[in-house]
Amino acid sequence: MLHSPEPVISVRDLRMRYGTHEVLEGVEFEIGRGEVICLLGPNGAGKTTTIEILEGFRMRSAGEVQVLGEDPARAGEDWRARTGVVLQSWRDHPRWTPRRLLSQLGGYYAPYSTPEVERPVAVDALLEMVGLDRLADQKIVTLSGGQRRRLDVAIGIVGRPELLFLDEPTAGFDPEARREFHHLVHRLSDLEGTTILLTTHDLDEAEKLADRILILADGTIVAAGSADQLARQVARDAEVRWSRDGESFVHSTADATQFVRDLLNQHGDEVTDLEVRRASLEDIYIDLVHAHERPVAEAIR
Ligand code: ADP
Repeated sequence: MLHSPEPVISVRDLRMRYGTHEVLEGVEFEIGRGEVICLLGPNGAGKTTTIEILEGFRMRSAGEVQVLGEDPARAGEDWRARTGVVLQSWRDHPRWTPRRLLSQLGGYYAPYSTPEVERPVAVDALLEMVGLDRLADQKIVTLSGGQRRRLDVAIGIVGRPELLFLDEPTAGFDPEARREFHHLVHRLSDLEGTTILLTTHDLDEAEKLADRILILADGTIVAAGSADQLARQVARDAEVRWSRDGESFVHSTADATQFVRDLLNQHGDEVTDLEVRRASLEDIYIDLVHAHERPVAEAIR
């Protein structure tokens, strides 16, 4: 949902070159306040590079980048206090407890508290939010992989960020931890109005969480929109399955509604187990990424 006309993130003609390898070749997008955006793309597409440039951890080769009204390459500590970062994993302080670590890190944000935005988040509330309240006083070294990841997220949000970056936040989560994490993202977005940019390889997760999906491939954003909007960019037939007289049938069609209408008109009550399957986000993603892949022979020439 857009609450303010000023974008939280604005990227124009972003370019990044490592030696002679040009990874980003003119990336452009805007993110509005309160939006949850998933950045998708094949391995090596430049997702982490893009996020690290926006976080102010990596210098870009060229282009204009504004994050919360500032250029992250030059922004100061008060800007950093307004952003939260969840990196791949927090491995330090294994002998500390979650409560002690979050109290310590939260203390750094106290000078940036304002009447509108109280910083840091109270440790007990934070522990409850990420589902670690019962493990608050255990040594971090004893936490499972999923519990540690929740601690990573707690570290990312302890300063009550306006903007949260999550790089593959649910890698290694079991299905239950993943579902709890999805609740947490919805809660941050709906109740706190946090703008969230995350990367994931899990297309189901992207579909569940994202207001908009950005697909990065071949150095640029090749598609952007909600899962439904992306589906409209890819012409894919729907698959209709049904049974009749104990026999199973499957038919691909561009107009599933008309096909089903004709089928029922013709065979009525004899039709059972009717199912219509439309293109999944995975089908759409693979089509979009393949459409923008340079053929290897052409790239070498
Ligand atoms: P993704 O997150 O989409 O997998 P990355 O941003 O990690 O992609 O990497 C994009 C490309 O840039 C890859 O080919 C990677 O090898 C290269 N790359 C990333 N960081 C560096 C670096 N510090 N030096 C040289 N090449 C790098």
